[in-house]
Amino acid sequence: METVTTIEALRRRVAPWRREGRRIGLVPTMGSLHEGHLRLVDAATAGADRVVATVFVNPLQFRPGEDFERYPRDLEADRALLTARGADLLYAPSGTEMYPVPPIISVDPGALGSRWEGAVRPGHFAGVLTVVAKLLHQVGPDLACFGQKDIQQATLIRRMVAELDWPLAVLVVPTVREADGLALSSRNRFLSAADRVEALALSGSLTAAQAAFRSGERTARGIEQVVRSEFAKHPAVAPDYVAVVEPDRLEPVPLVDDRTVVAVAARVGSTRLIDNVILGRSLG
Ligand code: AMP
Repeated sequence: METVTTIEALRRRVAPWRREGRRIGLVPTMGSLHEGHLRLVDAATAGADRVVATVFVNPLQFRPGEDFERYPRDLEADRALLTARGADLLYAPSGTEMYPVPPIISVDPGALGSRWEGAVRPGHFAGVLTVVAKLLHQVGPDLACFGQKDIQQATLIRRMVAELDWPLAVLVVPTVREADGLALSSRNRFLSAADRVEALALSGSLTAAQAAFRSGERTARGIEQVVRSEFAKHPAVAPDYVAVVEPDRLEPVPLVDDRTVVAVAARVGSTRLIDNVILGRSLG
């Protein structure tokens, strides 16, 4: 697997694939890769002939005081994992390659950008959509893969691509979890041993929501109460929000069905974690 760090080298590498009629798959990441990211590589490999993975910690999506500086970075380990998983090309641009001048243009995520995660992290999704727009134009994939774990991000990217008529497919891949249910995240390494136990409040509350749905609960209020009462058993975990929403715009619904999304965010110690489920599916 070759590594490129400039747009020019990236395009030089991808152009012949396109000329040969190969389908190109893209997996954008911020690095510090784990099995969740690698499952996106698998999904891209299944749906495309050549897979480009990108590693770029995007400063635009961090607010001052968030963890941009301490965000884990380990490009050599990422390279080894991507090579072993069969990715064809790693694109790891520098900050100045991506933003040679301070940008004045950004992609507006609309009202959904300031809800849920966006309410806690103003400007975050404009930063995400802007860098994803750039990556999509730099690579020109036929397929781009994102994780369900970041469901609001995946929803906004899907909408951006559909509403702006970009010619590619967006695939959302189910969340990969530890055996005990904790969703894999690059930020899990910041959890102390005690926090690691408390963090199970997220997946535990979502499992309880699915169980309540299977037992016949159909009101969003009832589902939210189940989630909140699970969180109440973990006083060290501070939930930011419990969203019971439909899957297309993530708007609250009064009644739930098997497509309804339940999404939570919570602070565990100094680490902020997110997770979600679709009520009618397995935990994934
Ligand atoms: P990140 O590097 O955290 O920006 O994540 C890059 C991509 O990996 C995003 O599309 C995430 O949604 C996805 N991802 C992160 N964690 C997981 C997970 N546990 N399962 C599936 N996908 C994930």
